[in-house]
Amino acid sequence: MSHSIVNEIKSIIEARDPGQPEFHQAAMEVVEAIAPVIEKNPEMRKARILERMVEPERVITFRVPWVDDRGNVQVNRGFRIEMNSAIGPYKGGLRFHPSVNLGVLKFLAFEQVFKNSLTTLPMGGGKGGSDFDPKGKTDNEVMKFCQAFMSELFRHIGADTDVPAGDIGVGGREIGYMFGMYKKLKNEFTGVLTGKGIDWGGSLIRPEATGYGAVYFAQEMLATRGQSLSGKRCLVSASGNVAQYTIEKLLQLGAIPLTASDSDGYIYDEQGIDRDKLAFIMDLKNVRRGRMKEYADKYRSATYIAIDSSKGFNPLWNHKADCAFPSATQNEINEKDAQNLVKNGVFVISEGANMPSTPEAVRIFTDSKLLYGPGKAANAGGVATSGLEMSQNSLRMSWSREEVDNKLKWIMKSIHQSCVDASKEYGQPGNYVIGANIAGFMKVARAMMSHGVV
Ligand code: NDP
Repeated sequence: MSHSIVNEIKSIIEARDPGQPEFHQAAMEVVEAIAPVIEKNPEMRKARILERMVEPERVITFRVPWVDDRGNVQVNRGFRIEMNSAIGPYKGGLRFHPSVNLGVLKFLAFEQVFKNSLTTLPMGGGKGGSDFDPKGKTDNEVMKFCQAFMSELFRHIGADTDVPAGDIGVGGREIGYMFGMYKKLKNEFTGVLTGKGIDWGGSLIRPEATGYGAVYFAQEMLATRGQSLSGKRCLVSASGNVAQYTIEKLLQLGAIPLTASDSDGYIYDEQGIDRDKLAFIMDLKNVRRGRMKEYADKYRSATYIAIDSSKGFNPLWNHKADCAFPSATQNEINEKDAQNLVKNGVFVISEGANMPSTPEAVRIFTDSKLLYGPGKAANAGGVATSGLEMSQNSLRMSWSREEVDNKLKWIMKSIHQSCVDASKEYGQPGNYVIGANIAGFMKVARAMMSHGVV
């Protein structure tokens, strides 16, 4: 029967949502992992829980017109996917990138439902964004766009309804402009967005949380084999928010980060990226908004390799190392990359990015029995700390750095434990993909059963 539910859902989404390959990929991973749960719980099948889960509760798309610095009118498309609110208000980031479309955001919103459930906090799942490209735009243009985007989004969100955060292309600057516009339109100062500045309702550790969390998750996985991160050689992709704080935490724990990248290419630093070099990356990316190549111009120990998509694999994943932290984007590790990682001795993969490994790559990781932490578990520290920001906003209090970091550590530990327990219960010990999907699914499914057919 588990086979038939997998095929049934596959035909439903293929017929109803053509042209959304990323959404199909994310949905099928979950459906395949949780099919045995449905088999054990026929009442869930009868209640069509899965059929309901793959259909967003609400999808909002809207026009975002704005005027650039030369006085030209620009038109972008805005989205918010309100996927599932069974266990709390919709929660999930906003992505500004030219590759954004409905299928990409639906995959992200779908993943978010299970991830948020795993955090132990009461948050439903959502995601949104726009095909706006912040690259090369002036600060004024970014502000104009964010204001135009929020001038429609504001009517759909709210502190108890839907609480967006950042994602690719949306960091502290963009959250600030959007929050300003929301506050002006609603005449309300509420915790409607997370990732806010520390002076106006933000939480300490939120900027660090996704990267730190992915490293804590790797630490937990390593501990199951009696090992630590100390001295481990690590491959990190990207150089954005998640990558920067992954590198920072790796350094704090005595590991050796060797690589960083952007969409043009990557650097391999044979001496490792140390604290000073990380400070250089942070200034380069967050202040000067420059390109990774400049790192190799400055540091002789580094080699810069430009992206060459005709190769069919990413050489960043083809160095001798122990651990890998993909922190850029979906499907950045293909089958060949996965083979290269395994061949080079990498035995820990903790995904900071969302769905960075293709299904073929995931199969190689799970068959190789290495420690593979899928994004929905390994990068859940970001949204978990957003949940802590919401709690602080509701309490009208702010917690210390140490307090938030300790809660984040505890949450990552408990996510790891839930994955371990669920994978054992379903006869696949050590398989974090099965563990994360089943553990995340159960809570949402039980809530949906309690709420009746809505
Ligand atoms: P940022 O915008 O801060 O950084 C994105 C980084 O990824 C940049 O270095 C960017 O390079 C690179 N990148 C983006 N798209 C591509 C691409 N198509 N090919 C190659 N490189 C690319 O985003 P975040 O660090 O916030 O997000 C990174 C990943 O982590 C995403 O998958 C996101 O969904 C996930 N994530 C983020 C969370 C958060 O709290 N921010 C929470 C959980 C997951 P360039 O500048 O050249 O585009």
